[in-house]
Amino acid sequence: MNVHIGLDDTDSVDRGCTTHLAKELVRHLLDRAFFIDYPRLIRLNPNIPWKTRGNGAVALHFETDDADEVFELLLDVFKRSCSKNHCSHPGLVMSMETEIPEEVRQFSLNALSSVVSVKGALKLIRKFGMRYYSEGRGMGLVGAVAAIGNILEEDHTFELLAYRKEENWGEQRLVDASSVVYMGKKTHPYTYNNFDPETGRIMITPRGPDPVLLGIRGEDPQMLLDSLTFLRIGEVMDSYVVFRTNQGTGAHLAPILPLVSLKAYTAGHFTGQVSEDPRIERGGHVFFKTRDETGEALCAVYEPAGSLRTIALDLRCGDIVELGGGVRRRSQKHPTVINIEYVRVLEISKQLTYMNPKCNRCSARMSSMGVAQGYRCGKCDFKDTQAQKVSVEIHRALEVGLYLPPPRAQRHLTKPLQRYGMEKTSWSGKLVDNWFSFEPETPICEAVAP
Ligand SMILES: [Zn+2]
Repeated sequence: MNVHIGLDDTDSVDRGCTTHLAKELVRHLLDRAFFIDYPRLIRLNPNIPWKTRGNGAVALHFETDDADEVFELLLDVFKRSCSKNHCSHPGLVMSMETEIPEEVRQFSLNALSSVVSVKGALKLIRKFGMRYYSEGRGMGLVGAVAAIGNILEEDHTFELLAYRKEENWGEQRLVDASSVVYMGKKTHPYTYNNFDPETGRIMITPRGPDPVLLGIRGEDPQMLLDSLTFLRIGEVMDSYVVFRTNQGTGAHLAPILPLVSLKAYTAGHFTGQVSEDPRIERGGHVFFKTRDETGEALCAVYEPAGSLRTIALDLRCGDIVELGGGVRRRSQKHPTVINIEYVRVLEISKQLTYMNPKCNRCSARMSSMGVAQGYRCGKCDFKDTQAQKVSVEIHRALEVGLYLPPPRAQRHLTKPLQRYGMEKTSWSGKLVDNWFSFEPETPICEAVAP
C-alpha cells in the first residue's frame, strides 16, 4: 500500500522539532516501510503572523503492508513527542491516494503564498478519506495536508539535518567555523548559505536549544553527505536525515501581486515603475512607492535586509523593477506595505538636475544675477542676460540586475543568487543509500573552537 503521512507540530522551534519528530517516525518505519521519496520538508507562507518561526511541515511517502497498523504506531510516537514538547496545535494526517488529488495540490500551493484555514484542510481530509489526528485548534492539520500535497515535481533542494545527543541539547554546538567556510568553498555551488559573507556568521548551525546540530542545504544528496566530511565537529552526532525540500526555490513568490488589490499576508511578485523616491526612516527601514497598471503600493526594505537597503535607496522615480515580497496587513499606524524580499532592476531611468550655465568666454560656471536677469561670470565678468539653467544628467550608481538580502536575512524559501539558473525541472525518484543514519560515524575533533 502506498502511504503519505503529513505532520506539523506547529509549536516547534525553527527547523527543530518537526524534522526531529519526522526523523523519529522514519526510525520507527525502517523495518516495515519502503521509502518512495526522501522525507519532504515543506516550508509554508512565511508571511503568516501566527505561524511558528520556521513554518515547516514534513511529509513521508512510503509503501507498507498494513497502513492502519503503521498509522497507529506513528500516532503513538507523535502523541508522545507532542506531549513532551508541549505542542499546542499538532496535526498528523495519512492519505492513501496513489496520485495526490488536484485539490490537495492546489491547497498546498495556496498554503505557500496565501492564507488557508483548518476548515479547508478538514474538508479535504473528509473528502478524500484521510485518517488524521490533531490537538488544540488543529492548526497542524494545515501544514500536514499542505506537505502531503506538495510533491516537489519541479524545482527543489535538499537539506541534510544532523541531530544532537539529547544530553547536549541546550549546550553550545561544537562545529568549527573555519571548517564550515572550507566546506562551503569545496562544495560550491552545490551547497548554499553555509555562512553569511557580510558578517562571517555561520549559518548551518541553529542557535536555539533545539535538537538540530546542523543543517547543510544544497542541490544533491550525495554532495551533502560528502560535505559532512569537511567539517570539524566536536560532539557525537546522534543521527542525520536528508530531506527533499522547497527551501531555496523562491516558490512562495511565484504568484503575481496585483497592486490594486493587495491581500494581507499574501506573497508574490510584480513588475512596476518606482513612483516615489525612497526615504529612510527611523530604525533604518527604507520605504518607496511603486506603480503598476492597476495601482500604487508602498514597499519596504526593512533594516535586517542589510545591503539590500543600499540598492533600494538608489532607486528613483521612473526606474522599472520587478519586486518580490509579502503583504503586511494595514494597521492603525501603518498602511498596507509590501515587505520586499528581492529587487530586480530592469531599467534605470534618466535623472536630470539643473545647473547654472557655463561662461561662453572662459567656460567657468556662471552665477545668477537675480530672477530672470541672466547670469554673470565671476571669473571674467562676462554677462549673459539671455542665459538659462541647463539640464545635466545625474550619474546613476545603480546597475541593472538581481539583488537579494544577505544570507542571514533570507527566508528558508528565498532562492539564493547562486541557484538562479540551477533550478530543477524534475526528480529522478531515486534515493541515495545513506540518506539517513541512526548511528553515524563522526570522528570527534578535539579542541574545536565554536
Ligand atoms: Zn567667464
